[in-house]
Amino acid sequence: MRILSVCCFALLPLALNAGEAITIISRDAWGARPPRTDISTYRQYGIDNPGYSRIVLHVTSMGRGVGPAEVRRIQDFHMDKRGFADIGYNFLIDSDGNVFEGRSLEYVPSHAGRTVEGDERHDIRLDPDYRSIGIVFSAETDQTLTPAQVEAGIALIRDLEKRFPIESLITHTEVKQSLVARGLTPKRDFDPETCPGSGSIDQIIRIREAVDPTFDAGAYRALFAGGTRVGDKERLSGAD
Ligand SMILES: [Zn+2]
Repeated sequence: MRILSVCCFALLPLALNAGEAITIISRDAWGARPPRTDISTYRQYGIDNPGYSRIVLHVTSMGRGVGPAEVRRIQDFHMDKRGFADIGYNFLIDSDGNVFEGRSLEYVPSHAGRTVEGDERHDIRLDPDYRSIGIVFSAETDQTLTPAQVEAGIALIRDLEKRFPIESLITHTEVKQSLVARGLTPKRDFDPETCPGSGSIDQIIRIREAVDPTFDAGAYRALFAGGTRVGDKERLSGAD
């Protein structure tokens, strides 16, 4: 395994397995803009080590794209149009299966949304972004993921499972039910067609079956049984 960027994350040691080849293209390598200085840190909430334990899968809902320009496109969109302090996701997998480092894990991510309770109590522990690593695939909601994206997704998740005690792997659209199960109220609704959308159902299932023995493919498919509306973009009801 080769990691171009060890990133800025010194909170947990990296457990690297030389048998698997995954290259994570660093922020420097893709020409990332620096995060805004007001980016949220865990320390400002009195948290020294967030101990990432969840992974949330997304699609960009912005079509397919490849290379550093694709990551810069998403970062520009998040910072200039959405008002984020940096790209919201922690990793991006482009249509060729290249894996890019997104927001550093030393900062609070911004991809899974927030809760009413978290806002009221000013407690990020109640927000779904807390301890959640966001992985996004470049694709439109009605597009399949490419075979290279599927392979890279499996490899990245397996790598993260070695580095962090990952307890759950869900898609953005399942965030709501995970919050409700914890007695929390999402600030926004999550339409399955918004993210990740029905185009990637088979590929998302393949990825999850490869890494999660508890995954229920039938239940995931059932999320999309209610309709086939495509069009609302991640930017309308996704992370904020
Ligand atoms: Zn999403």
